[in-house]
Amino acid sequence: MSLESAVGARLIGTCLVAEKTLSLEFELADMSYRFEAGQAASLSFVDPPLSGDSRTLSFSSAPAELPRVTFATRLASGSPFKESLSRARLNDRFEISSPFGEFLLPKGEEESLPLVLLAGGIGITPFRSMIRQIRQSGQKRCHLTLLTLNRTQEETPFYEECRLWKEEGVLSWVPVETRGPAASGRSRESLVTSALEGIFKETGDGARLYLAGPPAMVDGLARILETAFRFPQERLTMDLFFGYPST
Ligand SMILES: Cc1cc2nc3c(=O)[nH]c(=O)nc-3n(C[C@H](O)[C@H](O)[C@H](O)COP(=O)(O)OP(=O)(O)OC[C@H]3O[C@@H](n4cnc5c(N)ncnc54)[C@H](O)[C@@H]3O)c2cc1C
Repeated sequence: MSLESAVGARLIGTCLVAEKTLSLEFELADMSYRFEAGQAASLSFVDPPLSGDSRTLSFSSAPAELPRVTFATRLASGSPFKESLSRARLNDRFEISSPFGEFLLPKGEEESLPLVLLAGGIGITPFRSMIRQIRQSGQKRCHLTLLTLNRTQEETPFYEECRLWKEEGVLSWVPVETRGPAASGRSRESLVTSALEGIFKETGDGARLYLAGPPAMVDGLARILETAFRFPQERLTMDLFFGYPST
């Protein structure tokens, strides 16, 4: 069955953006389709045998790139949906629902506050959309910081692009790799706490924090913010990728 108010989408490219992490690019049939950076949509197969099966995915491209859109996902084993995605071929047809979600860049007075984006694994997708939007619009944001949390560099989605953003001065990038060479046996909590101490030294008090990713990663990061920094809830916005394991 078709998704309500879905638009047709043709697969025009795929590539691996980290170990077992697939990026898919689509061209939308409807030129009037609009979304905001940070939003998500349901991606659905049109053809059998998975016709109608869908997953919520955050746009990883910027609105300015429409009518092309990209999504990225971890290729979990045991997910028929993901297995079919990894076998999808150019020109295969999909449907994409209307966009939804309120995980949007701060607006109004809050725009001038330092912004810290904490991406747990695949949680970088809505941030990539936001950062590409900021970069393409030529907007200058004071103190934009991205922390990526992954096990290794190879598992860090869009590693090269993050490096480029840092090189271009679009943002400060703090990659935390819990099994990387610099981890030297330290716990995830200890590595993240040190990284955040460094970030807060730069931003001072008053930063706005955004967290995105699988619930277990977001909850873990939120706990560190609460216990180690007593970070105020009202300056914290979270995007939980429900559907990934919560423990
Ligand atoms: C707002 C939002 C944004 C997201 N953005 C991304 C993204 O950019 N990249 C990404 O990889 N994943 C994203 N997700 C998670 C994604 O929707 C999948 O849940 C996840 O990728 C796991 O899919 P799977 O096929 O591997 O799991 P499966 O093993 O097939 O799913 C496990 C079970 O959970 C159910 N399920 C799957 N998705 C959901 C869901 N969203 N809500 C409730 N139940 C569900 C399935 O029906 C199944 O019963 C996002 C989720 C949300 C809510």
